[in-house]
Amino acid sequence: MVNEFRLTSVVNSDTGLDVLELFQKDDEERMGTIRCRSKCPSCKKPFKYFRKLGYACPECKTMPSRFYIDLWHQKERFRLFSDKSGQVLDSYQRATTLLSHINYEIQHHTFDPSKYVSSEIRKFLFEEQIATFLKEKEIEETKGNISPSYISSLKNYIKNYYLPFFQGKDVRDVGAIDIKDFYLQLPQRKEKTIKNILDALNHFFKTLHKFGIIEKVPIFPVIRVPESVPYWTSIENQLKLLDVISDINKPIFTFILFQAVRPSEARALKWKDIDLENQIVIIRRTFSNSKLCERTKGRNVKKREIHPFVLKVLQNLPRGLPEAFVFPNPNTGKPYSKTRLEVLFMKARKTTGINLCMYAAGRHSVLSQAGTAGVSPFIIKSYAGHSSIKSSEKYVHIDVLAQRQIFERTVAKLAPEKIAKE
Ligand SMILES: [Zn+2]
Repeated sequence: MVNEFRLTSVVNSDTGLDVLELFQKDDEERMGTIRCRSKCPSCKKPFKYFRKLGYACPECKTMPSRFYIDLWHQKERFRLFSDKSGQVLDSYQRATTLLSHINYEIQHHTFDPSKYVSSEIRKFLFEEQIATFLKEKEIEETKGNISPSYISSLKNYIKNYYLPFFQGKDVRDVGAIDIKDFYLQLPQRKEKTIKNILDALNHFFKTLHKFGIIEKVPIFPVIRVPESVPYWTSIENQLKLLDVISDINKPIFTFILFQAVRPSEARALKWKDIDLENQIVIIRRTFSNSKLCERTKGRNVKKREIHPFVLKVLQNLPRGLPEAFVFPNPNTGKPYSKTRLEVLFMKARKTTGINLCMYAAGRHSVLSQAGTAGVSPFIIKSYAGHSSIKSSEKYVHIDVLAQRQIFERTVAKLAPEKIAKE
């Protein structure tokens, strides 16, 4: 209660400031002083302290409108100009209320001076802005607009690369030199990884710029990485993989391998997503780690043709209620876990010697087979739900054979007589 007594003595003291300053010299753990920075706007003399009223200039009848708390805490001096919510101390009453609150916190060992940094400044700190950015991306992920793998990479970049370098920096002060220094201090990683780290950071700053938080986007170094060609395999090899998987687990692997969906989407499929009569499936749900995420909209939620081979398998499955999962794990009756699927698939990889992950053996292979067979990247984009045609083009540029259709569909068919005449 000693501190509260002292606070009362501050407010009631006629001489105010002087008494307090004496106090401060006595004791490291005193609870602080309310001060005002300004002088009387009329006579330019310092404001005087008055009991209960606070500060004023009695001659000009003026009062200050900005106060601050001057405080020593654990041998450090703090000047606090606002409360934790960022409210500036615009009246003496507000300052005394805050000071008594701080004293309460000091007494209960919960006082954290950084919480009193003006929220105006705090909201521009890199860590605050990147947290907001991540939160928004996570919302986009649940809507199906961003893949879960992007979110996990982003989290990794933030924790391991961005925060160690940018923490405590004001995003408005980050310029090309900071970005260059950031780039130069990055640990040795694959070129593609470095590019991804910088691209995501660049995207972050572009977003800040779009919302008017920063005036311009800092310049980023240009890193060129050759386009990665997705690993894929033939339909024969896909069938070999499926062949060595036990019958009870075949349905879900048939779906993953031939329907070109992500394994986490296959795990989350429900009967209500399937229309066997019209041979249509809608992918609108996924597992993110072990959490089921419904997509209400987004480019992934659309009708997709069911692969004829998959259709047969689905027709032979016992139909469940609309809310039932299509591919329950036969051992548990619940959806397969990510690990369970991977373990089963790893066995198939070892047995067949076809060393591809589920994603490559399924989704990448179906799309690559289509691209190689001359399917337009626009159709691939629409089916796969790619955000950019660039992703779809990767599947088309795989094989020169795909170029043959240019002649098959144009020259040969349109001008046979002309060719014959000449
Ligand atoms: Zn005055």
